[in-house]
Amino acid sequence: MIAAAPPASSRTCVLPEPRPRSVPLASCPLCGGAVRPHARIDARRVDEVFLTEQLRALVPHFTFVRCVHCASLWADDARRAPGLLDALYTNLPPEYWGPLVATDAYFGWIESLLRRYARGPYVWDVGCGDGKLLSALSARWRCAGLEPGRSAVQRCREAGLDVRAGSATTAGLRECADAVLCFDVIEHVADPLGELAAMAGMLRPDGVLIVLTGDAAAWTARLAGPVWEYLHCAGHVSILSRPALVRCAASLGLVVEAAETVDHPYSKALAAWLPDVLRARWQRFRTGRYPRLRYCRDHQLLVARRAPAAETSS
Ligand SMILES: [Zn+2]
Repeated sequence: MIAAAPPASSRTCVLPEPRPRSVPLASCPLCGGAVRPHARIDARRVDEVFLTEQLRALVPHFTFVRCVHCASLWADDARRAPGLLDALYTNLPPEYWGPLVATDAYFGWIESLLRRYARGPYVWDVGCGDGKLLSALSARWRCAGLEPGRSAVQRCREAGLDVRAGSATTAGLRECADAVLCFDVIEHVADPLGELAAMAGMLRPDGVLIVLTGDAAAWTARLAGPVWEYLHCAGHVSILSRPALVRCAASLGLVVEAAETVDHPYSKALAAWLPDVLRARWQRFRTGRYPRLRYCRDHQLLVARRAPAAETSS
């Protein structure tokens, strides 16, 4: 999820040894298209719990490339190094989840999505954090969660929630969910297609995968360019365009029922956001300095369904 007003951190955690190195992306990990430089962001302007001093040393700049074919954006720096993100997420401190945006209206919207699309009671929240969403869902659902952060898993269990440690990839669950929720998660994963495939494997026949993430091809994201707030979150490494996310779902054998632009709780109204982003781009051009912004019409919702049992077995 997104940190709205994250505190400063001088926190350290155990990182893999030897220190991870990333291999520059030669092509888009999803479609194989050529990649071009997109943005280079000074990490000193980012202040959040996730960005430990060790990570700052490894990643002084957040470097992004864009696929010329599918328009997805990829971090092209040490954040993609094997094992690095796993170590960081496993060791996140409890305060990481404190400032995350979570409103009753947002959770109510997710509940309404479940009522509309889920055809059974078993709901899994992948990347459930400290369990805010699981706690907010109504009693009609049999809820469970997956979360790599050890401290968050402990907090969930203390709250009586059924949460396992790990990601969809590492948990290896099969056919356990009528609905898998993946909200503000897939952009934090170095291998989004692999993680989505693991989530698809969790679906029972007729089960549904519901994903919310940023949209690299949203017109507001394109207008914002390097000042797009989504690029200033240290954990965002894989930002798919809507066509790319739709193709991922289709490649996993899922039928896409909805793929649409949505706002995020951290979003601002367009009329108020437009002057801000234009001013920020001008300031960046003139001085290299610019304020942090809010989101605006730059998220996407994907709803994709596994075939029913009769079709699954045929
Ligand atoms: Zn691509």
